[in-house]
Amino acid sequence: MAEAALSRLRNLPSVDRMLRHPDIAVLMEKHGRLEATQAVRKTLAVLREELQSGVAFDEGMIVASVLSRLAARASTQLKPLFNLTGTVLHTNLGRAVLAQEAVEAAADAMRQAVSLEFDLASGKRGERDDHVRSLVCELTGAEDATLVNNNAAAVLLVLNTLSQDREAIVSRGELIEIGGAFRMPEIMARAGARLHEVGTTNRTHARDYAGALGPQTGLILKVHTSNYRIEGFTAEVGARELARIAHRHDVPLVNDLGSGTLVDLSRFGLRKEPTVREAVEEGADLVTFSGDKLLGGPQAGFIVGRKDLIAAINRNPMKRALRVDKVRLAACEATLKLYRDPDRLAEKLPIIRFLARSTEEIRQQAERLSPVLADALGADVAVESVSCRSEIGSGALPLDTIPSFGLSLRPKGGGRAVEELSAAFRGLPRPVIGRVAEGALIFDLRCLEDEALFRHNLSSLRLGEAL
Ligand SMILES: *Cc1c(COP(=O)(O)O)cnc(C)c1O
Repeated sequence: MAEAALSRLRNLPSVDRMLRHPDIAVLMEKHGRLEATQAVRKTLAVLREELQSGVAFDEGMIVASVLSRLAARASTQLKPLFNLTGTVLHTNLGRAVLAQEAVEAAADAMRQAVSLEFDLASGKRGERDDHVRSLVCELTGAEDATLVNNNAAAVLLVLNTLSQDREAIVSRGELIEIGGAFRMPEIMARAGARLHEVGTTNRTHARDYAGALGPQTGLILKVHTSNYRIEGFTAEVGARELARIAHRHDVPLVNDLGSGTLVDLSRFGLRKEPTVREAVEEGADLVTFSGDKLLGGPQAGFIVGRKDLIAAINRNPMKRALRVDKVRLAACEATLKLYRDPDRLAEKLPIIRFLARSTEEIRQQAERLSPVLADALGADVAVESVSCRSEIGSGALPLDTIPSFGLSLRPKGGGRAVEELSAAFRGLPRPVIGRVAEGALIFDLRCLEDEALFRHNLSSLRLGEAL
């Protein structure tokens, strides 16, 4: 090793000396002795490596490096962010944003003991489903209801309870993959059900179902093909007719609605998506749907329908493995309660609030923010307000997009510049996630509510070399 490098190595301060540095001592108070000591050790180790290649250092540099190491370790991994992708229910970004009422109920349940499985009237053991059962029944017209981890769990549990070692009849046009390894045929296999496919991809008739029914049948499953649509020469059997066929053979009809909604979305200017109440009225014996899609609550799966079938589901030991905890139960109850006042849903429930925002309001926001971004980005990025289209996401109304407004950020450099620009926005203290289209980064403003925080956040923007 060169003499100069050796002497720098000898001059490297000790761990103890660095821990006594006033700036680091303050952070030791905050993060604990172990964290601070490890950050100093790690920083010095890296520096020892670098010294060999002739890098110089001073104490200020070491302190700065220790501080940033500590800050990075302390920062949350699961980061709140701005979802400006234009997909309102983005599965990778946590789907529904919860209502204030739900957040408070969840926080309350976290802080203290709750009457989760305790009946306050009798002082005896209660059931956790009791807290939402009557609400769900009131809102859907179903006889009974139960709640599990998510809709995938709901489908798994229903199939396992009603068709283990028996057949589940499904139309070939409904054997869907939702994404993230949720494929209907695979879920069925894991549930122990034998898949009996009927019809063809584009056309399935009543006689196909009728021909498949027999003593080996456990149930007929109807799946809402939520993330695609078959167009053209098609035929499917409606739920009402399917219910008649199923009941003639004394077999239950299960309708997996996927998103499902509790209100008629046309109230808010959107296209109509089947409501859970309608699915119940059409004669399905069980209906399954998600808590965090259009319903706007936490991740959960609802199973509603016939009392005897729900009782059988609750007796299945698998139910124990798929149940929800007190936190989500509290958030679910609070979310469902909002539906008792449909007039104020668009104000209180974020998913409906986002979807119901007027294009004009979003356009004005885009006009307001366009100069702010132009200012933050400088001359190398062209910023303009543009019309765009939002989608609901998570399989709800897949082909229907809603007119919206946003900002287009187009780096004049071209090449990799747009990727660098997206990375810079992802690197903000509150990351901003947009989508890249044709060389521009697009921010759809439909879901942007905290404009003040958005503006403040921009002051941390650091643009890379390519821009
Ligand atoms: C989304 C969806 C599921 C899965 O629901 P999760 O809540 O994501 O588990 C199942 N079936 C259909 C039809 C869906 O749209």
